[in-house]
Amino acid sequence: MDTTRRDFLKVAAAGGAAATVFGFDLAPAYAQLRELKIARATETRSTCPYCSVSCGVIIYTLGDRAKNVTPQVIHVEGDPDHPINRGTLCPKGASLEQDILNPRRLTKPQVRRPGKTEWEDISWDNAIGEIAQRVKKTRDETFVEKDASGRTVNRCEGMAFTGGCTDTNEFNYLVVKAMRSLGVCYLENQARV
Ligand code: SF4
Repeated sequence: MDTTRRDFLKVAAAGGAAATVFGFDLAPAYAQLRELKIARATETRSTCPYCSVSCGVIIYTLGDRAKNVTPQVIHVEGDPDHPINRGTLCPKGASLEQDILNPRRLTKPQVRRPGKTEWEDISWDNAIGEIAQRVKKTRDETFVEKDASGRTVNRCEGMAFTGGCTDTNEFNYLVVKAMRSLGVCYLENQARV
């Protein structure tokens, strides 16, 4: 039997009337449906990584951190208790869930060797080892003890450091200590958290 749009509306109206006559109130059911998405989720407070405004976000992860549950991000929204954004997010921050669940998201370090066009995956241990070797080599080659006037400067002009907007005060304190100890003077960070 073909069902027209008019037939469908009649049946729907009759169903609604029946629900009223027999004392069904569908409002709690609809409210329950709206709540279910994050009802059993774990809330994690974090910072939007996109710009230096550093808006606070709440990341909802499926499960209660039980051992037999695989964590899965299911929703991201602005943190209403955060003093910077008070729950609001710009369109870019509002799409953060798509960044987290994106199949193109990089989850391991990569390196592009000199002369190559392709990036290759390397382990974290190898990445840290190679970075350490390059820092040592660059510092040895570019460290300046005295400037052109003979004044002691002890600076390393061959390296720079830049940090991201989710870096905390504590992290940046350690970064400045480490970089200054190497003599790095080109040091910047957009973090405001
Ligand atoms: S939500 Fe928008 S304004 Fe806020 S930190 Fe993210 S990108 Fe910047």
